[in-house]
Amino acid sequence: MTVITKTSEETKKLGIEFGKKLLGGEVIALVGDLGAGKTTFVQGLAKGLGIKQRIISPTFIIVRQYSPSPAETTYERGGLSWLNFYHADLYRLEGNLEQEIKNLGLTYIWDKPENIVVIEWAEKIRNLLSENTIWVNFELLGENVRRIDTVGIWY
Ligand code: ADP
Ligand code: MG
Repeated sequence: MTVITKTSEETKKLGIEFGKKLLGGEVIALVGDLGAGKTTFVQGLAKGLGIKQRIISPTFIIVRQYSPSPAETTYERGGLSWLNFYHADLYRLEGNLEQEIKNLGLTYIWDKPENIVVIEWAEKIRNLLSENTIWVNFELLGENVRRIDTVGIWY
């Protein structure tokens, strides 16, 4: 599916709709240049998951964990099926990426039904991610125009 957004709000809304469809266990890999809208999308995605905390770019921390507030989240959809949301940004990750990913604990976190993991700059570890990964591509077309492409079965 390809979507063209013309404001950051539209990208956030797309993220919200995406987030609402997640059930747990998904790994979402975001690809695109700086400023392409990845973090903006994640802010929407977290909102769609029912997370009330503000999502800030994890660039320096690399991985941040968020938890849903049970009363307001997937309970509305008939049961809490996941427990943790992780937002990773690999922009600054260097060296032996396979080892770094292990050190960060990501290999223990992803592909587990209780976790939802979103990774910015995921192309850096493309060969380490499972076949089930949902890839979302972001492209800067103009100052406020973004092309967002996704493959997979989420929609
Ligand atoms: P990334 O995480 O890919 O580096 P960010 O989401 O942090 O990108 O930044 C995107 C920037 O572009 C923000 O300043 C946002 O306000 C701006 N922007 C303008 N138009 C859009 C759009 N259509 N979608 C997303 N962001 C947009
Ligand atoms: Mg970002």
